[in-house]
Amino acid sequence: DQDIAELDPEVAASIDAEQRRQQDGLEMIASENHTAVAVMQAQGSVLTNKYAEGYPGRRYYGGCEHVDVIEQLAIDRLKALFGAGYANVQPHSGAQANAAVMHALIKPGDTILGLNLAHGGHLTHGMKLNFSGKLYQVVPYSVDEASCTVDMDEVARLAREHRPQLIIAGWSAYPRQLDFARFRAIADEVGAYLMVDMAHFAGLVAAGLHPSPVPHAHVVTSTTHKTLGGPRGGIILTNEADIAKKLNSAVFPGQQGGPLEHVIAGKAVAFKIAAGEEFRARQERTLEGARILALRLLSPDVMAAGISVVSGGTDVHLVLVDLRESVLDGRQAEDLLAQVEITVNRNAVPFDPRPPMVTSGLRIGTPALATRGFGTEAFTEVADIIAETLIAGATSGDDGPDPAVLAGLKGRVQALAAAHPLYPG
Ligand code: PLP
Repeated sequence: DQDIAELDPEVAASIDAEQRRQQDGLEMIASENHTAVAVMQAQGSVLTNKYAEGYPGRRYYGGCEHVDVIEQLAIDRLKALFGAGYANVQPHSGAQANAAVMHALIKPGDTILGLNLAHGGHLTHGMKLNFSGKLYQVVPYSVDEASCTVDMDEVARLAREHRPQLIIAGWSAYPRQLDFARFRAIADEVGAYLMVDMAHFAGLVAAGLHPSPVPHAHVVTSTTHKTLGGPRGGIILTNEADIAKKLNSAVFPGQQGGPLEHVIAGKAVAFKIAAGEEFRARQERTLEGARILALRLLSPDVMAAGISVVSGGTDVHLVLVDLRESVLDGRQAEDLLAQVEITVNRNAVPFDPRPPMVTSGLRIGTPALATRGFGTEAFTEVADIIAETLIAGATSGDDGPDPAVLAGLKGRVQALAAAHPLYPG
């Protein structure tokens, strides 16, 4: 058995290069994180060889005694972490978790109410090219133009008018908390199921730093790789036995064949980490970093460049930068930050006048840096670097910012990266 570097030097070289990219730059894509070495060890283990269709104790394959232990650990830890009665840890991704819930609870042609993609929703909440938009009648709800927060009166009005079978609360690009109790009251009033997709903020919920949707929703879905910091994957939670039964059969055999037991082992490890004090402190730093960034981007020198913050701040792990009033667009801003080795993604802001490939926004998140050990001082420095980079871009002429200015900013990023080694040792 050959080492990958010997057997496949091309793939090995790209893995090494990606590790250097992650180490040398600063990762601020809000949906990303740096998972633990122990999680990667679980994922890179012999578990990848094992078929285990079914659930622990009820498999369709032999030799499942060890993966049964692992999957049951993942289930039990997940239930304890979020205080849920039932958990399914098999969805291969967040999108598959959402698909399984819809498969379990509603029929093609039924109506779903979800946050408009252009206002921060996710593809699986009813985008027209996604399965959710093709199989179901979609009624999107929006944010209020002045506050840029979800307008619950509009959600109630749309629910009464369209009588959806499923209401989805959750987001991919939204800087505030949702009112889960109000969502549930609206769902109950119209006889709909309420699904909360907490993919982005699950880590904050696990740490007790964000209200939990679990007591309110019929079903909660999540990814495991964002704020939660685990391997790439999906999960589903519920408190109701009859719903749990439907969910299990929607995942397998409804949607998937063999579960990825190596990923499930990584999930089990991640849930153990997420139950600890260190994880809570990390989520606190995540929130603090986002608040520091929002405050810096609301200061007068940034505002003077036509740059602002959607909703005037943040309650979560991300900041949405509003470039609608700036000559700098989302694509240019993303490229400029890439030049100083900060990775972010451009993102439409509500009521964005620019096209989706360009956008007037940036989504900037702090989970990966918090995992790297960033605290108040380092987050203050990175917020300042971002502010100065954006100001340089917004106030320079057609030739772009002075290369010497960008080189100086990149040097500061490299110093921060070097002071916070990734995967040390
Ligand atoms: N749900 C939300 C709210 C998300 O933001 C995402 C991913 O960005 C997903 C679901 C989908 O997760 P995955 O990429 O694992 O399919």
